[in-house]
Parts: sequence; C-alpha cells; structure tokens
Amino acid sequence: MGTTFDVTVYRPSTESALADVDLESAFDVVRKIDQLMSLYRDDSELTALNKGAGGGETKISAPLADILQASVFYTRLSDGAFDVTVQPLVDLWGFYRVANAAVPPEGEIKKTLETVGMDHLSLDKSARTATLDAGAKIDLGAIAKGYAIDRVIAVLRERSVPAALVNLGGTVRVLGKAPGHRPWIIGIRHPRENRLIGEVRLERGAISTSGDYDRYFEADGQRYSHIIDPRSGQPVQGVYAMTVLAPNATTADALSTAAFVADGLDLLLECRNVSGLKIEPQNSGDQETSPDTLLFTVTSEPDFPVKAPFTSYEHPSVHPLISTIDHSAYRDCVWQIDN
Ligand code: AMP
Ligand code: MG
Repeated sequence: MGTTFDVTVYRPSTESALADVDLESAFDVVRKIDQLMSLYRDDSELTALNKGAGGGETKISAPLADILQASVFYTRLSDGAFDVTVQPLVDLWGFYRVANAAVPPEGEIKKTLETVGMDHLSLDKSARTATLDAGAKIDLGAIAKGYAIDRVIAVLRERSVPAALVNLGGTVRVLGKAPGHRPWIIGIRHPRENRLIGEVRLERGAISTSGDYDRYFEADGQRYSHIIDPRSGQPVQGVYAMTVLAPNATTADALSTAAFVADGLDLLLECRNVSGLKIEPQNSGDQETSPDTLLFTVTSEPDFPVKAPFTSYEHPSVHPLISTIDHSAYRDCVWQIDN
C-alpha cells in the first residue's frame, strides 16, 4: 500500500513467544490484503479488475467484494463525495507520482469525468463478480487501510490478545485498554508543521485522518492535494484535515475521506456512533492564512467513544458540538463487519 504499518501488542511478559506470533499473523494479514488491493502491484487482483474494464465480468475474491460493497455504501451516504472510481482523475492529476504532477487542461478533466462514477461499476456480491465499464478504474486508497486494520484486529482477537494498537499509514484502531487501564492517546498532527496540535483520547474503536499534506504539489502558489472531488474533478481545497472517530477502521477511513471532500461536519453530525474533528484555515475562503491560525470544529457523539474526544494544546477552548445533534435524525454510517 506504499505506507507504514505498526502493530503494538500487549501481553503479560510470560507470553512474549505468543506476541511474536501475534505480530507475524498481523503482518501476514496486511501482506495478503496488499497483494489483493494494491494499485502499485502489477499482479494484484485490483490491477486485474482495472485491466479488465470494458471486457465483461471479472471474478473477485471475498475481501475485494466486501470492500467494494462498503465503497458503494459510502458513495451513497456521501452523495458521491467518496468514490473509489476516482482513479482516472487521481492519475490525470499525477498523484501517483507527485514529483511529475501538474494541473491538467480543463478539457482533459471534463473528458476524464465521464469515466468516473459508481454507475460504471456493477457488483454481484453473491456471485462474487465485478464489471467495470471501459475506461473506468478503481483506487481503494481511501478505504483499504481501514479494512486491513479491521482484519488485523479480528485476527488478534481470535488469538486472545488483550490489548493492541494497529496503525496503518495514520489510520489507527485499538483493542482493549492501554496499559494502566487508560484510554489510548492519539496525537493529532499540525497540518503544516512537524509537531502535534492536540490529542484524542480513544477508549475503543478507530481514528483516521485525511489531510492535504500527505501527497500534494504546488503550482502558481496554490496547493493541490491528493483528495479529489469526483463530481468536479478538482482537488479539494479550503480544508487542512478531517479526523473521524468510529467503532471500526473501515468506517473511520472511508468517512474521513468522505467528510474531507464534503467539506464539513454536517455529514458526520448525522451519523450515529461517529465523532469528527475538522481543521481548516482560520479565514477559510480564497487565501490561506498563516499556518498557526487554525480553526477547529469538533462533533462529539455523546456515548462514543468519550465525551470530549479532542484536546487542543494551544486552544483549550475548543468545545464539541454535541448540542447541535438531532438524535432522531441519526443515520447509520457504520459499516458492519464481522468483528
Ligand atoms: P485517505 O488518505 O484515506 O483520505 O485517501 C486518499 C486517497 O484516496 C487518495 O490518495 C486517492 O488515492 C484516493 N481518493 C482521492 N479522492 C478520493 C475520493 N473522493 N473518494 C475516494 N477515494 C479518493
Ligand atoms: Mg480514508
């Protein structure tokens, strides 16, 4: 997946041999999912599906069918802000090799948009087949990390691991309590500087951040980053980062990307069991302000995972927006997985 993977497993010191096996099993899971879903491998199942576009049905594995089904769910939930068929746009903008990236001509964007959209994918989950229209391609970069983490957690649970933290490229899920029966403390990165701006206390579940600082290029003083609005074909601007807390990592990963594109917390405010943190320039609008004037907005689910999930180191007055939640209007935004 072209990213870093850390697993920390806590066991009594008498079980260190078991911990070695835990770690091996965790790496195995990630390796297998990478073999299936990486765009960077010629031999992955996803590459085969993309190459088969326009050529009828392709047989797919159960994990790929699962993740595609979750992707369809998040596209619907976000009115198309989250869309794994965005691949041709990510490619056109050059985000697979940002060193060579440049702003494409408007006409090219328009043409590429015709190949983007979930209506170009049909999925038969029971027959385990997928069909992609000619020109359409899939990129699972916004959801596969979360999915892989959830699979790892399932394996660690099966192995009766009492506590663990799994971090795949900045998406994290925890199992059990941190040592000392405390919540896990997850640092939140400053979007422009190499330091933390605050922390989240996670009792359980997962946290994921989508930011404009991971993969980007600059042209004419403007930053273009790797998350693209699939409806306009343009990289999203005006937001630095969106963090989502959810019961599992698939949900947190998909929703952080979706909310980043949807440019707001409205989507998250409608979701049961989900909290969010948005970091944007203080004067959002046309000009970027100096990086130390950040604006935070937090939504907080009353029961999940803690009452005030975010502590800002510099702005202690950041308060969650719990009061604006209309509980009767809640939607189910959590992808149900087996663990
Ligand atoms: P994340 O860091 O989880 O937000 O995922 C971002 C990655 O997902 C990008 O690097 C692209 O590969 C892909 N992507 C970009 N825009 C979208 C989008 N609107 N919906 C789904 N995936 C996207
Ligand atoms: Mg994501």
